[in-house]
Amino acid sequence: MAISSPSLLVSSHPSSLPLFSRFEPKLIAMPSFPFPSPPPLRLLPISSSTSQAGPLHQDPNNRTLFPFGDEKHSMPTPSHRWQRVLLKVSGEALAGDHKENIDPKITMAIAREVASVTRLGIEVAIVVGGGNIFRGASWAGCSGLDRSSADYIGMLATVMNAIFLQATMESIGIPTRVQTAFRMSEVAEPYIRRRAVRHLEKGRVVIFAAGTGNPFFTTDTAAALRCAESE
Ligand code: UDP
Repeated sequence: MAISSPSLLVSSHPSSLPLFSRFEPKLIAMPSFPFPSPPPLRLLPISSSTSQAGPLHQDPNNRTLFPFGDEKHSMPTPSHRWQRVLLKVSGEALAGDHKENIDPKITMAIAREVASVTRLGIEVAIVVGGGNIFRGASWAGCSGLDRSSADYIGMLATVMNAIFLQATMESIGIPTRVQTAFRMSEVAEPYIRRRAVRHLEKGRVVIFAAGTGNPFFTTDTAAALRCAESE
């Protein structure tokens, strides 16, 4: 799985089932970043070659954003395979051409793609990485930095990315909440599972930051955890 790609989309239950019924977790890939321009959105299954999942949404001709019009709050049509998805965005993906740690063009491209999904009435959660700023394993041992401390710095890096992404999303009208795995209450909500689900139900995008909150893990683990928890 390429680090530079927003790598995971983890689905919730099929929309044909009642809301909040049993999940069928799936892993599906987004197109590689950076985008020269936002491409048509295609969500493709990678978990199983036998999956029946087709493109969730293809809308190459309509790039106009109406992220939270009335249609947003309507129930998704049965043609949507998933009611709720989780997108893993690696930190490297945010760096674009690496002139800076974060490329605003990339965050905007992601925000627009997310907006086009939310317009369908699909709930979107995001787990964001921090590798564009700091990876604990790479720095552990430098100047006496122990692995746990290095990993906490890495988790803080994910919070920076999350806040940047939140600001970008809200700049185009997508209500977004950041929840962190450890408390940083001046800048984000603490992770509270039921609250996160409530946000999603209300059509808000939820960005999960600070990974699992534990050193020696990665945000890929956090993505799997948050997906399983966000029923
Ligand atoms: N990290 C951690 N625990 C977690 C998630 C992340 O300690 O649950 C730290 C770890 O140091 C990691 C860094 O945060 O290198 C950035 O996360 P990750 O490498 O997963 O970011 P990505 O590769 O997705 O950009």
